[in-house]
Amino acid sequence: MTSITDVSPAARRTAPLGLLAYVALAAVAVFFAATHSFDAYITNILMQAATYSVAVMGLTVVLGLCGQINLAQAAFFGLGAYAVGLGTVDYGLNFWVCIGLGLVTVLAAGAFLGASTIRLGGHYLAMVTISFQQIVTLVMINWIPVTHGPDGVSGISRPGLFTTAQAYLAFCVTVLAVVGYLVWRLPSSPLGRAMRAVRDNELAASVAGIDVQRTKVTAFAICALLGGLGGALFAGGFAYVSPDQFSFAESIVFLTMVLLGGVASPIGAVVGTGLLILIPEWLRFLKSVPGLYLAIYGLAVILIVLFMPDGIWGWISQFTRRFGSRSGVAPVRAEATALELRGSSGHAPEVLRVEGLAKHFGGLKAVDGVSFSVKRGSVHALIGPNGSGKTTTLNVLSGIYAPTAGSITLDGLDVTNLPPHRRTIAGLGRTFQNIRLFRTMTAVENVIIGAEHPGNPVQKAHHALDARARAALAFVGLGDRADELVTSFSYGHQRLIEIARALAGNPTLLLLDEPAAGLNSTEKLELTALLKRIAAKGLTILIIDHDMTLVSDVAEHITVLNFGRRIADGDPVSVLNHPDVVTAYLGSEPDAPY
Ligand code: ADP
Ligand code: MG
Repeated sequence: MTSITDVSPAARRTAPLGLLAYVALAAVAVFFAATHSFDAYITNILMQAATYSVAVMGLTVVLGLCGQINLAQAAFFGLGAYAVGLGTVDYGLNFWVCIGLGLVTVLAAGAFLGASTIRLGGHYLAMVTISFQQIVTLVMINWIPVTHGPDGVSGISRPGLFTTAQAYLAFCVTVLAVVGYLVWRLPSSPLGRAMRAVRDNELAASVAGIDVQRTKVTAFAICALLGGLGGALFAGGFAYVSPDQFSFAESIVFLTMVLLGGVASPIGAVVGTGLLILIPEWLRFLKSVPGLYLAIYGLAVILIVLFMPDGIWGWISQFTRRFGSRSGVAPVRAEATALELRGSSGHAPEVLRVEGLAKHFGGLKAVDGVSFSVKRGSVHALIGPNGSGKTTTLNVLSGIYAPTAGSITLDGLDVTNLPPHRRTIAGLGRTFQNIRLFRTMTAVENVIIGAEHPGNPVQKAHHALDARARAALAFVGLGDRADELVTSFSYGHQRLIEIARALAGNPTLLLLDEPAAGLNSTEKLELTALLKRIAAKGLTILIIDHDMTLVSDVAEHITVLNFGRRIADGDPVSVLNHPDVVTAYLGSEPDAPY
């Protein structure tokens, strides 16, 4: 796992206090569990809550942070439990060795399941995890010589240090506290930021240099790992495991727990787990009336989810946040540093060389054998009527589409077959025609993600990235609003944040897809000035835009596309007076060059 650091200076300031409070709270809980003599019934409930919570925190990571569904958490929980059960009882292995084996097993299973299904999204991923869950259950029930079948495994002993229920409970609470801390800190680590970026916008994440596949598989594997850990602890706690404890229904219970408590925080996991374990206990007296118990239980869950869509903890923290903002926490002012850009450093006179590039969608030749090259340090415009293949060209350049034919050379490197994040690492930066920001994050967090990729030759310590992100925001004129959520910005300013995100990544070539679209005339002037400031730093720009005033103002070279083919290429005056260009534009009213 990547190192865990803070996001914002504000978070950095409060971190020691938060950590202190956390450690104090955890110590009290562990001390209480170790010394207070609960009756066996309460001990069991607490043991179940602690071990389940560990597994539910896995879902906080995969679902809450990374936005992936996992309907097989009970299977991972069961694999961990059976590793301890079978290992200690049938093979006489040491308890800790069994936990280790269990964790390796679930990690491998989780990574395999994640890697083999990660290309599938949403419903398909849900179906595959359900299948995995069913397979695990079937094996537990039917592979009797190994698993003991439906009878399960009994007589599981605890490790020497923690033989009493009391001591073992204290141990489980300690593990829960450590896991809770790691999950709490994860969102502000580079890995956690990558997960949140993938959840918010996969395409933008990949173009910001994040390996989306690997991030998803990692999230899935962490989820499985925590599931297995919870299960292994559970087996030691209850001394008995059987297949029905780890069925699909239990996976749904795990999912309900995390949704009920709130997916955004490990506290939500504990709250949801505690509640779903306690509600049945509270309603125990209703069990004599068949059906009534389930009806009330179901109704309670539905009501909570209905009125608290972010879960109980989400609802509470919304409340405290509102209260907190009224008490007026002063925003942190960044010391204004200048934005350093790699600019024109490099050897070859051409930053980009495109040869015979084609992209066909079935019979439609969106891009059809286009060649051009972009000179280092120049502003190069790609224009053409609507539907002429400009965005498709940019998507092929940045790796979102694989080309049907042709080659792309970036700064001397053949990037034709690289995935998007590898091209970003190689020096490509881009913005989107339809804005793609990470919508649950602040402006500065968005830009930090752009700066974080391994190809960026800047310091990766958190404070350095934070300073760089703030410098990039200041460069586009939004320095004093860095800590606001991106959704609170106007459309035009969101475009600027996208440009800042790309700049922070230190590209050698910046691709801009219609940055002026949707801007009013003042904003267009500001954008023109910004583009000139970027160009003055020596950065090479390839810009698509419809606004001919802007294009002829900033570009020194223009390539024109029509029906996916290049129809002109050269300096602005000769290109815009080229008869083919005039004819192409006469046919499409909204894109008229003049
Ligand atoms: P421009 O950006 O120049 O307006 P585009 O590159 O977006 O044009 O589109 C070029 C052509 O390719 C259009 O006819 C468009 O409908 C088509 N096209 C773009 N993306 C796809 C896609 N994913 N699938 C099928 N057709 C597409
Ligand atoms: Mg377009």
